[in-house]
Amino acid sequence: MSWRAKVAASFVGLLLLFVAPSTSYASGYQTDGNLGLQSQPDCAEVLVTALEEGDLMGDLVNPVLNTQAEIEEKIALYKRVYPCIDELGIVFSQEDLELIDMLVLRFLYLVEGEGQQIDLVDLETSDDPAVSRLRDEIGVPPPDGYIFVNHIDSRYEIPTYVTDAFLDPDVRGVALPFRFVIVLEESDTVFDDLGMEEKSRSKTISHELVHAYLEAKLDLEDDLPTWFHEGLATNLSGGAKTQTISLMIPGLSAEIVRTAPEDYLTYDTVFRYLESELSEEGFNKVVREAIENNSVEGIFLATGFADFDELLVTAEKWGETHEPPKDATELDLDEVAIPVEPNDEPNTELPDNWKDFLITVGVWVGVPISLVIICGVILAIIRGEPLF
Ligand SMILES: [Zn+2]
Repeated sequence: MSWRAKVAASFVGLLLLFVAPSTSYASGYQTDGNLGLQSQPDCAEVLVTALEEGDLMGDLVNPVLNTQAEIEEKIALYKRVYPCIDELGIVFSQEDLELIDMLVLRFLYLVEGEGQQIDLVDLETSDDPAVSRLRDEIGVPPPDGYIFVNHIDSRYEIPTYVTDAFLDPDVRGVALPFRFVIVLEESDTVFDDLGMEEKSRSKTISHELVHAYLEAKLDLEDDLPTWFHEGLATNLSGGAKTQTISLMIPGLSAEIVRTAPEDYLTYDTVFRYLESELSEEGFNKVVREAIENNSVEGIFLATGFADFDELLVTAEKWGETHEPPKDATELDLDEVAIPVEPNDEPNTELPDNWKDFLITVGVWVGVPISLVIICGVILAIIRGEPLF
């Protein structure tokens, strides 16, 4: 079998799932100038070798890299083959080529970076509270390879070929398949002043790391429902009532999964209910087994519900009398407002409406006095008495 046939055969399955929207990478296709990429004479040859020897597409989407040297090797390879991707037109459709092109640009942006801070998170050793709990208490073995956490100062810096999820002003964090996290570090003056921004930001990172943990582990096999992904990420990162609204984009499908703020609350309630109904050990067991078996059936078996709808009805009823714990990052403006201290000093200032007050006094006192004087003068004139 020729390399073309092999590549074509191995890509068929993947490409069916990787239908990216054409608008999101159309701009990236022409931007190789920004990366300083120059076509080398052996470009096509290197690309063909990369396709023959490895899973180019799989490596671009879910790069399992464990050392700095491995990262640098991939960056060098993709920069070298990028200029001749369109030479694969004999094997791939224009649409597929644009997808490979977008994936290379996305990899370079999220792994090498364009000035943004990128943290390499090793899930085996990370001390992030949500990651620690998932790994050490719940007992889910961490996937190999780094998670790339990008810290971005402004939502406008993120190229649309990476994600246009940040066009939504409420989005603070995104987990991209399968091991990329983007966290927005745009400062919000009110929350910064109150020291809440940083706390909220670390919760956003925790939330997205839970997504990346599961995504990197399950890859394309992921069959777990949204309520499980979002409920677990919210539960492990410490509650739903935050200013963080995040997205998880499964696969490279055109559809972006947006979870509404009220849905985070609902999913969090379901997880708090499960925690309260099952012992800690029982809760950890059903969560671990759901991830291991790639199915939430065990949760229904353990709780006796037929499906999620049944579980939801009971959890929501339970939630009516079990408020989530209060948290400093709650978006509750009543609590954010600075309390007014009671003032013991005597109030010597005139009231704001003092002008109205003086006019009223003037009318009620002045008018009768004036009338008495006028009457007195008239009487004096009639009697012929001297006025003064
Ligand atoms: Zn999420």
